[in-house]
Amino acid sequence: MDLAAGLASILGPKGWVPGADARPWSRDWLDRHGEAPLGVARPGTTDEVSRVMAACHAAGVGVVPQGGNTGLCSAAVAGRPGAVILSLSRMAGIAAPDLASGSVTVEAGVILANLHAALEGTEMVFPLHLGAEGSAQIGGLIGTNAGGSHAFRHGMMSDLVLGLEVVLPDGRVWNGMRAVQKDNAGYALRKLFCGAEGTLGVVTRAVLRLAPRPRAKATALLALPDMGAAVAFGSRLRADLGDVLTGMEFFSDLGLDLALRHVPGLAWPLGSRAGAYLLVEVASTSPLVPLDEMLSGTLEWGMAEGLVTDGALAANEAQRAAFWRLREEQPEGQRLEGVQLKHDISVPPGRIAEFVERGAGLCQRLLPGVRINPFGHLGDGNIHYNLSPPAGQADFAGLGPEIGLELARLADRMGGSFAAEHGLGRAKIALADALRRPVERGLMASLKRALDPAGGMNPGVILREDRQE
Ligand SMILES: Cc1cc2nc3c(=O)[nH]c(=O)nc-3n(C[C@H](O)[C@H](O)[C@H](O)COP(=O)(O)OP(=O)(O)OC[C@H]3O[C@@H](n4cnc5c(N)ncnc54)[C@H](O)[C@@H]3O)c2cc1C
Repeated sequence: MDLAAGLASILGPKGWVPGADARPWSRDWLDRHGEAPLGVARPGTTDEVSRVMAACHAAGVGVVPQGGNTGLCSAAVAGRPGAVILSLSRMAGIAAPDLASGSVTVEAGVILANLHAALEGTEMVFPLHLGAEGSAQIGGLIGTNAGGSHAFRHGMMSDLVLGLEVVLPDGRVWNGMRAVQKDNAGYALRKLFCGAEGTLGVVTRAVLRLAPRPRAKATALLALPDMGAAVAFGSRLRADLGDVLTGMEFFSDLGLDLALRHVPGLAWPLGSRAGAYLLVEVASTSPLVPLDEMLSGTLEWGMAEGLVTDGALAANEAQRAAFWRLREEQPEGQRLEGVQLKHDISVPPGRIAEFVERGAGLCQRLLPGVRINPFGHLGDGNIHYNLSPPAGQADFAGLGPEIGLELARLADRMGGSFAAEHGLGRAKIALADALRRPVERGLMASLKRALDPAGGMNPGVILREDRQE
């Protein structure tokens, strides 16, 4: 029996989509990559995942795990024709949360927004939030080690994973579904699979750490002269409000302009425009903490110092959601403007303004007039340093790779990373080859060889298929 027929018999008609019908799973979010797969395996249980992996291993065919396919580095689609896409979306069970321990057990195909909804009405939340939460799945969030807007407070996905179940490339199952934070019984295997982008195994279940549900929140939208003021004010926010600070997001006037122009239903609530904007949120489990007063006090200080020029506090939930939408629609506004270059940089948070300025210098030198739209997470130094071509120009005149490499080098020199929260996937391998130190690359290649000696797990992601370290 050939592999497709074998997989169809393991999975039944609901669980196997032949290659001819696989188009909805085949291309990545940005529609840049994705070869025609042999088909899409849609298992319903860990046992089925294990049998699929064993069959593909025996046939020497590559497997690409796929969650919501919202990843931005082209890692959840086939790099070569004929690979099998393994979609976890039918494995979407959420167990009753263990509120006494602060954890919940989920299957890998659970959509993040559905987990948030399942916890409504309890005293706990899952504190990971990002713009794609209506589609991104737990397995994909683990695969990319997603960060998002609350990472500086609650950590990235790897900080929120207590236990994991993983199907290994040859079909063996590792059950590490422990529900404890303290587990030093050897190497931290659970961490290894966080951010592995599906290159070491398939995550099938996870025990996730929850956080207490805030009972009170205050949210402010602020205008500031420039990113230097935003960094200085951010440092004061940490000093004054560190215990309750849960959001510190920034965006630029160009980003605001694009979002207002292209995304329906957005409105600008402040009376003036400025060089930079901050969305600040504080939250507490105690309704007795005077959050509005605390936030207003720091805002007044910022205004007196000339760091903040305008601002508004959300008066109700609808306004809070409208403030967040202005930030979260930044990628969409730029996407709708047309061709773009996306960069997912991180630097030490105190150096964000310096990066934005030095980055602008090098981009303008390479392509005068290029439009720079930095936005991101002030609390952890993560800058989405995205570019649109100069006004009136259709594209980047072939300079995209050079600009990307120069920005990545700058981040590296400044003690940061050229791949902050989206991973490497296929899209950033050239950057990794240029910037990763040989020892670091060698260690990664050794790990890959140890866990996936046949190289069938998401080939061509993180490490080149042909590279001998
Ligand atoms: C509008 C928008 C906003 C975004 N905002 C953020 C943000 O703020 N922060 C952030 O970090 N990211 C962000 N992202 C990127 C993306 O949402 C995340 O990378 C997310 O974690 C991907 O989840 P997914 O289920 O879509 O994974 P996919 O795209 O399907 O897969 C991503 C990677 O994980 C692997 N994978 C998938 N499932 C499994 C599994 N079960 N086992 C092992 N590996 C698996 C895949 O092979 C691939 O390598 C954003 C994306 C969009 C489109």
